[in-house]
Amino acid sequence: MEKDLKLIGIENHNSRRRKKGLEPLTKKEFRKYTRNVSKDATGRNAPHVDKAIERMKETFGKDVTRKKKECFRCGKNKKLTEFVCRYDGKEPVINNVCKQCESKRTSEWAKSRKSR
Ligand SMILES: [Zn+2]
Repeated sequence: MEKDLKLIGIENHNSRRRKKGLEPLTKKEFRKYTRNVSKDATGRNAPHVDKAIERMKETFGKDVTRKKKECFRCGKNKKLTEFVCRYDGKEPVINNVCKQCESKRTSEWAKSRKSR
């Protein structure tokens, strides 16, 4: 199922490239290109990422794009916008685990659920 979706992705992507007059990408190049899904070819964020950053700016102030904090799991110093933000509690909080580590953890959790 996952493989099929990726193939549709490469076809759509290559048809867009052809319209621009660019050479279509091979499967290998496309995989490299989609590795960083939150940004497009020009380095802009995906719309859902931009939206999340805007909301963080509104609730925590503009400093979120400059301030850094250490991730609990990988120990890297990252910008506050690279952390998951939760708005469900009494007060909005920024998690201590970065988005990358969190997505890794949730995908592993999902896998362990499947194998049960
Ligand atoms: Zn991390």
